[in-house]
Amino acid sequence: MLTRRQTMTASTALAAAAVLPAGSTSEAAAAKRSERLPAVYRFALGELEVTLVHDGHARRPLDANYVRNAALEEVRTALLDAFQPADVVLSPFTTVVVNTGRELVAIDAGNGDLGAPGTGLFRANLAAAGYRPEEIDLVLVSHFHGDHINGIRLKDGTPVFPNARLLVPEPEWAFWMDEGQMSRAPEAMQGAFRNVRRVFGPEAPKVERFSGERELVRGITAVPALGHTPGHYAFRLESGGQSLLVLSDTATKPELFLRRPDWQVMFDMDGTRAAETRKRILDMLAFERMMVVGYHFPFPAVGYVARDGAGYRFVPAFWS
Ligand SMILES: [Zn+2]
Repeated sequence: MLTRRQTMTASTALAAAAVLPAGSTSEAAAAKRSERLPAVYRFALGELEVTLVHDGHARRPLDANYVRNAALEEVRTALLDAFQPADVVLSPFTTVVVNTGRELVAIDAGNGDLGAPGTGLFRANLAAAGYRPEEIDLVLVSHFHGDHINGIRLKDGTPVFPNARLLVPEPEWAFWMDEGQMSRAPEAMQGAFRNVRRVFGPEAPKVERFSGERELVRGITAVPALGHTPGHYAFRLESGGQSLLVLSDTATKPELFLRRPDWQVMFDMDGTRAAETRKRILDMLAFERMMVVGYHFPFPAVGYVARDGAGYRFVPAFWS
């Protein structure tokens, strides 16, 4: 209970506050800064220097088609359990830039200037990381979906990395560049076929291809991870006894597809095969306690895969 004296003091203070000039509190506050901050993260893996470069994120309304083989309510529950909106899918993009000591390698290239609002930040973030696009020696492509290849060539046709070799999976090239595949594909996929020709067509004779599991450049090995697309690849980085798997889209959104590796995202072109590949690779990652980077994982997108019940969960790496 307030004494009479305390009550008087309190009301005097209130009266004093009331006579302060308008705006005096906002003069003391720092101005709000609305400009976007760079999103890059760098670490060493043995002799390799790895820089994760954020390309922004897209939002798509969640509908029953997003996960082909799950009830919409189950998907909503998984998103709510991850403290994310249950009516929209937030999909971030993070590319991997590796300095091998001999070459500067970009693994995938982001959305370029063709993606949804909020995407296409790769070039600005690459600059923040201290690199010019001319310095990229090699662009290594995991698969031919637009969010991974559009950053190779601007809408107006300009190549973004003028000095880079392009190295792509042979089975991916064979599928997407085949006229027969294109003519047989449903209308909904025609745009994707045209886009592959837009990106690679102008330099088609110069595009180099790889297949099988083999070391492509020092410290970077191609690992077949088929199913998401016919020629989808992951990449293993190895140096000084350390290793890391660049998952690409072997598993897309971890809040859904690590928790339920059997779930098939609508973009998995061969859903059954993609799920088999996902389970095999996630099992290996958890068993080996191997570091992983996921293209659609929350920035900086690097961490580990741990078993969790019948599925897995993503454990972010210690940020330093
Ligand atoms: Zn993707």
